[in-house]
Amino acid sequence: MRRQRQTLIAVSTLIALTLTTAATPANAHTTAPPDQVTALTAHQADGYTTLAWQPVDGATDYQIERTPVDADNTPTGVPTIVGIWRPNRQINQQAPTFADAGYHPGDTFQWRVRARTGTTEQPYSDPVTATTTAPWGNPTTPGEQLRTGWETTRAAQYTTDTDEYAYTAAIDALSDRVRVVELGRTVQNRPINMMVIGHPTPAATPQAVAATAPVAINCNVHGNEPGDREACLIMARQLAFSTDPRITDLLSHTTVLIVPTINGDGRANNTRGNSTGQDLNRDYSLIRQPETTAYITMVRDYRPVAGYDGHEFGNSRAGDLPMLPPRHQNVAQPIFDQSQDMIEGHMYAKGAEAGWWACPYGCEGGGNVGLSEETILRNTLGLKNVTNSLLELRSSGGQTRPDEGNTANNRRRKTYSALWTFHQFLDYHRADRADILTARSDAIESQAANTGRLVFRGSRPIPAHPAPHPGDSPPPLDAPPADLILDTPPCAYKLTDAQYNGARTDGPGGVGTTVAQRIAAHGWKVITIGDDHYVPLNQPERGLIPLLLDSKAVEKLTDGERVHPTLTGRRNGPLTVTGFTCADDATINGPVTVRAGAALVTTATTISGPLTATGAAGVLLADSTINGPVRIATTGTISIIDATVAGPVDLSGNTTATDAPVLAGTTIRGPLTCTGNNPTPHNLGIANTVHGPRTTQCAAL
Ligand SMILES: [Zn+2]
Repeated sequence: MRRQRQTLIAVSTLIALTLTTAATPANAHTTAPPDQVTALTAHQADGYTTLAWQPVDGATDYQIERTPVDADNTPTGVPTIVGIWRPNRQINQQAPTFADAGYHPGDTFQWRVRARTGTTEQPYSDPVTATTTAPWGNPTTPGEQLRTGWETTRAAQYTTDTDEYAYTAAIDALSDRVRVVELGRTVQNRPINMMVIGHPTPAATPQAVAATAPVAINCNVHGNEPGDREACLIMARQLAFSTDPRITDLLSHTTVLIVPTINGDGRANNTRGNSTGQDLNRDYSLIRQPETTAYITMVRDYRPVAGYDGHEFGNSRAGDLPMLPPRHQNVAQPIFDQSQDMIEGHMYAKGAEAGWWACPYGCEGGGNVGLSEETILRNTLGLKNVTNSLLELRSSGGQTRPDEGNTANNRRRKTYSALWTFHQFLDYHRADRADILTARSDAIESQAANTGRLVFRGSRPIPAHPAPHPGDSPPPLDAPPADLILDTPPCAYKLTDAQYNGARTDGPGGVGTTVAQRIAAHGWKVITIGDDHYVPLNQPERGLIPLLLDSKAVEKLTDGERVHPTLTGRRNGPLTVTGFTCADDATINGPVTVRAGAALVTTATTISGPLTATGAAGVLLADSTINGPVRIATTGTISIIDATVAGPVDLSGNTTATDAPVLAGTTIRGPLTCTGNNPTPHNLGIANTVHGPRTTQCAAL
């Protein structure tokens, strides 16, 4: 009660100030006191208003006041301080902005801004009045007129699971740009849907979508953090029906993959974990649960090049939009750098324009957050060479948004800040697509080269952004302890058949999928010789493999046996490979024949002579040179990444039916022949350079 009375006193003072200002309009511009905010503007966008003004010398902070008004500009409610602008809010201090949000979109308001010097309130600016942007979509245009349950209840209720399915099905039915696919089912059998969105229509198959360098948004993994999910549903409608040239241009250059609710059971019950209590954002590497398995299998098949993962965060002190890149030290440097560029280079800069306060996760007194667990999607995606970021929506308004005791206001601010972020994410991908793809190629090639130490837990540092910086406290250092560093990487991990195919108990109800099934969901290549199963590290996900298969890993699937290279240095004369042979930093002068049922794995190796493998169990070459023809015809696994072949390459008659040969980032000085392979070889999105002719199966590689 006491608090209410104080508010009323403040309100009556503010009304008096308003009336005074209104009564003396002629003086407002000519005699503005030096400490009065001037040049206030209000720009309308989806669910928020960007207020901008001329800075006042010596201002400590600014207060943003909002008053609801009617069509005649008569107040219909009390003026309220809805925002506090602080200097650590944005990178460009000379052009202060504040994204006011939380109101019901479409209503009309008057805004004023005043500086404070210390605690001394300076005069308010002249007011500006505007009608805010109504919820997106013409209410009489089919498709556009769709609304979520959250929108129709004015943020009083979140969209239910059945509402979501009806809404996404309606978008699917009404828009050629959208295809809804079911990725899997939750433990309680709720569909996990993904909207595949492209212009004029999305590519038809996962492989074809992968060729468009798609982007993926995971909207709701923690069931009690639903703000991002509502933004995803609204954005899906915009992408499906908007005729804005920006939208059609975006969708003509990529495919947008939106998974509104991976954790439908948790959302329905408003719990963080799924129905078994598992925090799914601690399971993306282990994939013990059907929900995470569905997402990781999607990443394998659709190969997004960039991603966002939506959350809410309980720090009420600072920051609207804490973000964080994949920090695990096994993430390739180009992916870390590109993700940081997306956050600090793009989001911080655009946030300063729009008035949203993006900041590093932690932001201000944020605690022990944002660490290196590979089980977190942010890190898992980084280890899968996906430029990506965590997104946290500050869960309560706190000191800088003092009017968010109102639940609906708070929810709207969160959702529309997420909507802004996701649109910015698409713009970043559109503008920086070439850099994102280069980072991905460089990352895959460096991972496949299998050089440098491995770290089982430990993060790259996130230094504070140079002042003036958005947020003071990046997440903690999280350096790897010495006992979680492996300086000399093995060539491969060897699993017994019991380890590989044995029953497991770590899934829902004490039943888990096999290690073989989980490795397949990650998309790793495995060489099977007799009862032994080898997982070579000269693969794109080299940084993730040891985290699941090494005995020193913190959260592992099994204790694989480290297999070290057996062939190094110089060797002259013909070589016949039997069993599992791993060459690293080797020079082989002579022809190499891989026997039926045997396997050859190479890194940093030069072979001078033909390489022939007929009926081999596997051939995986990375960062290697073959001076001579290469002919591989096996029923085993094949991967050639970042190699140079001086001679013809023939990949024919490889018919595993499930494991597509990989030929990526390789230069071939001769013809490339690919016939009778099933599946067809692919290039991971990294083009090869072929100096001779190519046959049909490899024509597009
Ligand atoms: Zn979360």
